[in-house]
Amino acid sequence: MAEQQLVDQESETHDVGQVWKATLGALEVSLSKANFTTWFKNTRIIQIDDDLATVGVPNTFAQEWLRSKYHEQILAQLREFYPNLRRIDYHVATAHTAPAPDAVLPHGTGPASAPAEATNESGLNPSHTFATFVVGSSNRLAHAAAAAVAKNLGAAQYNPFYIYGGVGLGKTHLLQAIGNEVRRTHPKKTIIYASAERFTTEFIEALQGKKLEAFKKRYRNADLLLIDDIQFLTSKEATQEEFFHTFNTLHQTNRQIVMTSDTRPQMIPQLAPRLSSRFGWGMVADIQSPDLETRQAILRHKCQEKGVVFPSDVLEYVAQRVQSNIRELEGFLNTVAAHCQLYGIEPSLKLVQQLIEQAGADRRNIHLSADVICDTVAEFYSLDRVELLGKRRHKELVHPRQITMYLMRSEMSFSYPKIGKALGGKDHTTVMHGVEKITKELVGNEALQRELSLLKERLYSTA
Ligand code: ADP
Ligand code: MG
Repeated sequence: MAEQQLVDQESETHDVGQVWKATLGALEVSLSKANFTTWFKNTRIIQIDDDLATVGVPNTFAQEWLRSKYHEQILAQLREFYPNLRRIDYHVATAHTAPAPDAVLPHGTGPASAPAEATNESGLNPSHTFATFVVGSSNRLAHAAAAAVAKNLGAAQYNPFYIYGGVGLGKTHLLQAIGNEVRRTHPKKTIIYASAERFTTEFIEALQGKKLEAFKKRYRNADLLLIDDIQFLTSKEATQEEFFHTFNTLHQTNRQIVMTSDTRPQMIPQLAPRLSSRFGWGMVADIQSPDLETRQAILRHKCQEKGVVFPSDVLEYVAQRVQSNIRELEGFLNTVAAHCQLYGIEPSLKLVQQLIEQAGADRRNIHLSADVICDTVAEFYSLDRVELLGKRRHKELVHPRQITMYLMRSEMSFSYPKIGKALGGKDHTTVMHGVEKITKELVGNEALQRELSLLKERLYSTA
């Protein structure tokens, strides 16, 4: 191999290993550290042949990225040594140091599959069930009530059932678990799952398209109505009035309504009192932040689910350090798994400590802002921030823009209108479309999953 790496170029002879080192050195200065490590680790020159350089990269992901984002820079640097060079072939080749990534993840397990929310026709994510919900002291009451609701649909003491709590604590999971359970036990029942925003948008569209009757019929026909994030029901009177009538129709005929929210009914700003009082008629349960023991149980459960094996000291450490919420715990687990797969290494305490430092996982909710998201996305895709927020509809801009929307939604739980505003005045339906597009694409698209998990890594090392 060593002989092959010595390349003759007419008058000059260069050691390609040294050339690559020099090239990397030059690139390193112009890139952020995270970016550099992510894309250039375990790369090398395999061969220089006349006007063609063959660069070895560890995986197809790096291949795509170098080709589409860094090609010009790499070419320019290499031409300092090989002026004849015109083309670069990025070739996936296992680096000498990297063991098979399968040591970490079994086949078919996406490394960063967390945000992928596959849904069935009722809009329910089939993996959000009671069986996959870990019960601890922080969610015991809400869980018990949810199970009772699923068993006794429409029973007066649980109707409506209102679950509230902070971001990423399992409200949506529990809400959908009720839906999935009823779907299993009563396949004929009509179940509707919708976010309050979707309800709002559908209502406005129905108004504009003169399809109000169909809209009313659909919602008022439900046996089980699951409304997620009711705090995002618009403050507009017509929408609230429509929800009021839907609520009354269902409630009067003992059909079940379940809602989630980030706060108690009376605390939702701009919600008409006749609604907030009704929301408290049945059962109100809150979910609190999980304690250490529950966090450990959840981590063990998630590892099992994903088929990932983490040593117990690693699990313990993560549970201790990542405290804020379960989405974050899960996200961190995915980051570790993705990292191990990307670099072909085993999860160790040392690695996890490093990643936690990097990700600032326990600082996320404090420092993250819409600005940080925009800047990080713009830098990641080498775009101008103004372009990213602008109106041009080029493919190269639309994807990053939709990723920005998705991140504001998943990481900050912004409402669609709020995201629209943060992106320089986009319509909330455009935002909803963007978020849904990415959410759908994430299912089964490993490259996109990794792209997002790397973006998040960057996000939390910046924030
Ligand atoms: P919320 O709606 O409260 O913001 P989610 O229901 O979306 O939070 O939960 C965030 C993530 O954490 C989801 O992937 C969910 O499956 C997971 N999760 C939350 N609580 C639990 C739990 N008790 N057991 C297992 N997974 C959970
Ligand atoms: Mg939710």
